[in-house]
Amino acid sequence: MKTAVLSSLATVAAVGAHNVGRQASSSAPASAPAGTSAGTAPASVQTSFSFTLASTNPTAIPLASIVSNAASQATHALSSTFAPGTTPTAVSGAPALPNAALLAPSAYPALDVIVPTDSAEVKQWILDVNNSGVAIPSIAPTVAGGCPANAAAAADQTRCWWTCTGCVADTDITTCPDKMTWGGSFDDGPSLYTPDLLAFLDQNNIKTTFFAVGSRVISFPAILQTEYMEGHQIAVHTWSHPSLTTLTNEQIIGELGWSKKVIKDVLGVTPTHFRPPFGDIDNRVRAIAKAMDLTPVIWTRISPLATFDTDDFDLHSGLTSASHVLQNWDFIASNATSPDFKTGFILLEHDLFQQSVDIATGYIYPDALARQPPFKIEPIISCLNQPLGNAYIETNDNSSNPLPISATTVVTGSATGSTGSSTGGSGNGNSAVSTIGLPGLGPVLALALALLSGTSFLLL
Ligand SMILES: [Zn+2]
Repeated sequence: MKTAVLSSLATVAAVGAHNVGRQASSSAPASAPAGTSAGTAPASVQTSFSFTLASTNPTAIPLASIVSNAASQATHALSSTFAPGTTPTAVSGAPALPNAALLAPSAYPALDVIVPTDSAEVKQWILDVNNSGVAIPSIAPTVAGGCPANAAAAADQTRCWWTCTGCVADTDITTCPDKMTWGGSFDDGPSLYTPDLLAFLDQNNIKTTFFAVGSRVISFPAILQTEYMEGHQIAVHTWSHPSLTTLTNEQIIGELGWSKKVIKDVLGVTPTHFRPPFGDIDNRVRAIAKAMDLTPVIWTRISPLATFDTDDFDLHSGLTSASHVLQNWDFIASNATSPDFKTGFILLEHDLFQQSVDIATGYIYPDALARQPPFKIEPIISCLNQPLGNAYIETNDNSSNPLPISATTVVTGSATGSTGSSTGGSGNGNSAVSTIGLPGLGPVLALALALLSGTSFLLL
């Protein structure tokens, strides 16, 4: 039985976004002393953290061993693999599974670096975005250093920069609508430790959402296939995990495009949802994503400083401790079950590192499963009361759930672009639009190609 329950949302300590110390964030770790700036407070400032768990896994790794310099544990093979040509059963109408062994890394960008924008693929995706009818706000990229280094941008409400202000557009998915529903999410994989997480989830009949990094998909395509075939939701998390607001329009298109492509090549289906790394999204990123038929998913935020991030990402680096993560989790769970909290929620976790998988399977999920009343843990698409098929373009129910581009009002031949707008609430309020140039071609030729394509277009 839990003993530590917070009395109101207003008393909740801040829960740090996992980008603390890495990119833009105004969030502070849960127990950072008042006035301590995010990104500069070592976890060692506080060494004692209080939490109460209803249950733990009998086979859990001891908390004292879930540390940055932990010895590498033995990794495990996937408990299930699927032959090429197998028809998915979890997703109605999905095509047969491709042969992952045929994946040729040389056909993709280098791993873990921002993709070049001069490839034939990216040039085509730039054209597609230009032809989409979605207006891209003319907003300059942010500079490295996050909110403190971009004070004007952070204060600009028309930019709607979630990281710095918590601003959301009405297309952003940040919660599950129904109380006690939990949209699960594990980011940054697949990894060598994902099979352990999958085995745990399978043993407990839990489905979740994996926000996959394209570079990791290249490395572990069979793991992604098992995630998908076992009924988990697969979504885009870029190619190289950059802070998207710092990139040019063309780089954002390349990062999202290559991630969509490698997932399609491995699974046969293309995700309809994406999560910006570090939650770093503004109206420019939103518009480009919309033009690429991707709906943003972030995670739940209950105050300017408190998000539903366990901060498990920072276990690997030693920026936080296992006890601190469990205190964060206890705060989150207490809030989610509070009568003051009217909706469900989306929790951010990671499957990239041994430590974050250990804390999830050993502590967070065993505790969550023992709590009363029970959480309903499910993929994010499911907590939105949509069929799993709506997680993919090829199986989406277009009649009841039009994809972003088809939901867009295409403005034909606007001379200024100022009257062009998109429906579906990208929330940009910014009538200015920018030109997305084709590398080596230039905007004039891009426009000519758009005209030749015969597609209705918005002059960009
Ligand atoms: Zn991430």
